[in-house]
Amino acid sequence: MRCPACNSGDSHVLDSRHTEEGNSIRRRRACAVCGKRFTTYEVIETSPIVVIKKNGAREFFDRHKLSGGIMRACEKREVDVEELVNGIERDLQNMLVAEITTKELGEMVMERLRKVDAVSYVRFASVYREFKDVDTFLEELNKIIRHSDT
Ligand SMILES: [Zn+2]
Repeated sequence: MRCPACNSGDSHVLDSRHTEEGNSIRRRRACAVCGKRFTTYEVIETSPIVVIKKNGAREFFDRHKLSGGIMRACEKREVDVEELVNGIERDLQNMLVAEITTKELGEMVMERLRKVDAVSYVRFASVYREFKDVDTFLEELNKIIRHSDT
């Protein structure tokens, strides 16, 4: 962090505080050479994630859109959709990927939903995987039943 007055790289921090939103830190610094005081900000970097749709179109990951889709599946069920979406967003950031397909995103949702609520999971999966026939649907259902046994 260079001093704006003398360009020295040597400064010390007088005071640090979080901004109201909590996603950045404001620091008061003093130049060790000329004593000039200045302020710097550190912001947590969250990189935008691009979602690639089935038709090849790309759009930025939109948590509202995702939670809308999940909410439909969780109608009248006790599922904390907000928390679920938070978890997915955290996973996406941790994966450090710039792009994800809607299919991969759907799998992530299903994996989390399956652990939380089987009914919501089946509803979501039936929309997402577009079960072509009753057999695929039953196959999926059996998988869940086997899972809940363990
Ligand atoms: Zn200075």
